[in-house]
Amino acid sequence: MSKCTTCSKECLTSDFHESPNKKGHTAQCKACRSEVYFKNKYGLPCVSCHLFKRLETNSLCRDCNNEVGLRCCIRCREWLPVLVEFYENRNECKACYKGKQVLQTLAKIDQKYGV
Ligand SMILES: [Zn+2]
Ligand SMILES: [Zn+2]
Ligand SMILES: [Zn+2]
Repeated sequence: MSKCTTCSKECLTSDFHESPNKKGHTAQCKACRSEVYFKNKYGLPCVSCHLFKRLETNSLCRDCNNEVGLRCCIRCREWLPVLVEFYENRNECKACYKGKQVLQTLAKIDQKYGV
């Protein structure tokens, strides 16, 4: 057993990475090292699960967004409930999808009547 210098927990030797010079192991356990790594990489934790992960534009990680059923519309960039505001498997919300269809219909009318 060895003591981690960061969390002060007694950890098994297998909970540490081998140190770079191959003598013994690193001073921090694997959990602490990966937390530091992700902290440096992502900067801010997810506002819901408080883990350092890649965050979506609403400050939640992908997992948390999936859990609460939110999806970002690729057009209006709004975070909306998937079940209510999206057609299945579409990346744009119903409002944007309908809006696009209206524009397409108008364009067709324009072509047809040369307005
Ligand atoms: Zn530790
Ligand atoms: Zn999260
Ligand atoms: Zn939208």
